[in-house]
Amino acid sequence: MTDSWDATTEELSGDVRLAGSHRPPVGLRGAEDVFVGSESVAGTLRLADAEYVFTDVSADGETPNGGETQNDGDETRDAPADHPAVATEVTGDLEDGYVESVDGDVVVAEVGDVFVSHGAADALDAAGAEQVFHDDAAAPTGSPESYDVSVTGWNHTREGRDPRDGVSVRGAKNEITVTEAKHDLTVYVTGWNNEIRIEGHGMDVTVFFVGRDNRVSVGPYVSVTTAAESGFDNAVESDPLPPEAVIETTKEEAHDGTVFGRHRITWQEPAPDKEWCPNCGESADAVIARRQKDAFFLLGTPVRTYDDGGVSHECERCSRNVAGGVELSERERKEALR
Ligand SMILES: [Zn+2]
Repeated sequence: MTDSWDATTEELSGDVRLAGSHRPPVGLRGAEDVFVGSESVAGTLRLADAEYVFTDVSADGETPNGGETQNDGDETRDAPADHPAVATEVTGDLEDGYVESVDGDVVVAEVGDVFVSHGAADALDAAGAEQVFHDDAAAPTGSPESYDVSVTGWNHTREGRDPRDGVSVRGAKNEITVTEAKHDLTVYVTGWNNEIRIEGHGMDVTVFFVGRDNRVSVGPYVSVTTAAESGFDNAVESDPLPPEAVIETTKEEAHDGTVFGRHRITWQEPAPDKEWCPNCGESADAVIARRQKDAFFLLGTPVRTYDDGGVSHECERCSRNVAGGVELSERERKEALR
């Protein structure tokens, strides 16, 4: 490497965006966290030194592959002379860096953590990273940049209704809420301490984490799985199914048609004291009691009971009203939502 370039230096403060106006190769020096978006670097992203690197782009050759590296000796960390030459250097009193569009190589130096999204660069050289987290278990369908709910930055709050493609978050401490989701979604999270909430019906959420301490929670009628986690301490959670989801006929509904005469009625009601299902023996969220009565009714009140029927229990696992926990029929969804 040579340092003979006549580099332009740009002194900035606060958050900085590399969005296409800098002559490459571009150096970014002294930022705290650096977030590198999908398809943002038309070249190699070189991490001259960084602490933790969370990346959905696999690092090349000499790069340590997870775990403590052998490169954190003095010779690598305190050797700016080894940094590759750049044509433009962006530095100053920087907070976070957002790399969005650079028509060439990018060199990142003297930064905290770096978060690299899917397809961010042609190649990644992470030789100067203390530790690299990379999980290539799965790749998202389509570019996360094109998802219909998309947030970049810090501390944003965003709401979306029934997105078609997915949710993309890049940054830290953002809060995203999606309601009325009906289509399967990809949730792509790059950064730390982001919170994503998805409420919907009968759809699947597939989550990719690139970073740490992010959380995706979903409502009871949504299934959620983690497809890949390049990082640590990320979590997905599902709300428990409410008993109402297993109830087909309420007691009130069962008594509706009993103004006068003999009727045999059945209904179900929640059994909130039961954490285990007496029927199938499994731990369950939504245990219900199934009851029946054969009686003579006058103005909706049983005046003579022929058979009180006893009680049986079922839950979201063994009830014939619910198959697979979240695959509810239209009617059962309506019941649950009343
Ligand atoms: Zn059961």
